[in-house]
Amino acid sequence: MAKIVPLFSSSKGNSYYIQGNSAAILIDAGRNLKQIEIAMSQNGLSLRDVRAIFVTHEHSDHISALKVLLKRYDIPLYASRGTLAYLTQADKVPASARLYEITDELETDDFRVRRVATSHDAAEPCGYFITTPDDRRVSVVTDTGYLTEEARAAISRSHMAVVESNHDVDMLREGMYPYILKKRILSDHGHLSNAACAEALPDFVGAGLTRILLGHLSEENNTPHLALSEAIESLSRAGMVQGADYTLDIAPVATNGRAVIF
Ligand SMILES: [Zn+2]
Ligand SMILES: [Zn+2]
Repeated sequence: MAKIVPLFSSSKGNSYYIQGNSAAILIDAGRNLKQIEIAMSQNGLSLRDVRAIFVTHEHSDHISALKVLLKRYDIPLYASRGTLAYLTQADKVPASARLYEITDELETDDFRVRRVATSHDAAEPCGYFITTPDDRRVSVVTDTGYLTEEARAAISRSHMAVVESNHDVDMLREGMYPYILKKRILSDHGHLSNAACAEALPDFVGAGLTRILLGHLSEENNTPHLALSEAIESLSRAGMVQGADYTLDIAPVATNGRAVIF
C-alpha cells in the first residue's frame, strides 16, 4: 500500500509525505519545523520514519524548515545541482547536512525517484515522479508556468498526482497584486492556472491517472470551488465522471488529516 499525505500546500508552505511499504519520504519542507512536526503527529506520522527529503526548488515556501530540520534529524536531502548550490550559498542548510544531487533517477530505500522538469523562476526547479516497490506511481508537479513534456509524460504514467492549479486568470488580472508580480505569475516561468491544469487533466485520466490532488492554490487569486469546478467541467466534457473514472480533491493549505491511498 502506498499513500500520500498533503501536509501543506499553498504559497505559505508546501510539504508532502509519501509512504511506501516500510519507508517514507518528504517532498519539500516549506513551513517551520514545529508546524511540520505538529502536522505529522496529527496524522500519526513521524519525521523519524522519513528516509529522504526531496526539494523541488529554493523558494522559501518549499524549504523554510530545512536549516533547523536537518540539524535535528539526520535525513539526506536530494535536489538538483542548481537548487543545492543556492541552498548552500544562501545558508539555508546546516554545514553538516548530507546533500545529494539528483540528476535523473535514483533508488532510495523503498522508492525509485525521477526528477521531472518544471518551468519556474528558480535556479533549477523540478517536480518528482516516484515509484513504490509495488509499482504504484505518484507525481508531484507544482510551481510551473506550463506543464513540460516530461511532466506530462510522468503524470500520464502515474496512479496519483499532485498537479498545480494556482490561480484563476481573471481573479489574478483584476486582483490587487502589483503588475510585475502578475506578469511573473502568468509567465512561462510562473505558476499553472486553473485553466491550464483543467485542460491537461482529461489526457492524464485517459492514460490511467485515477487520483488527483490540485495543489499550490493561491489564497488571493483562487478558491477551492473555482479550481475544482473548472477541473471537473473539463473532465466531464471529455466524458469522465468524478467517483467513477477518477477522484479529485484539493490539497488543503494545511492538512485536514486526509491521506490519499494509491
Ligand atoms: Zn511555491
Ligand atoms: Zn516557487
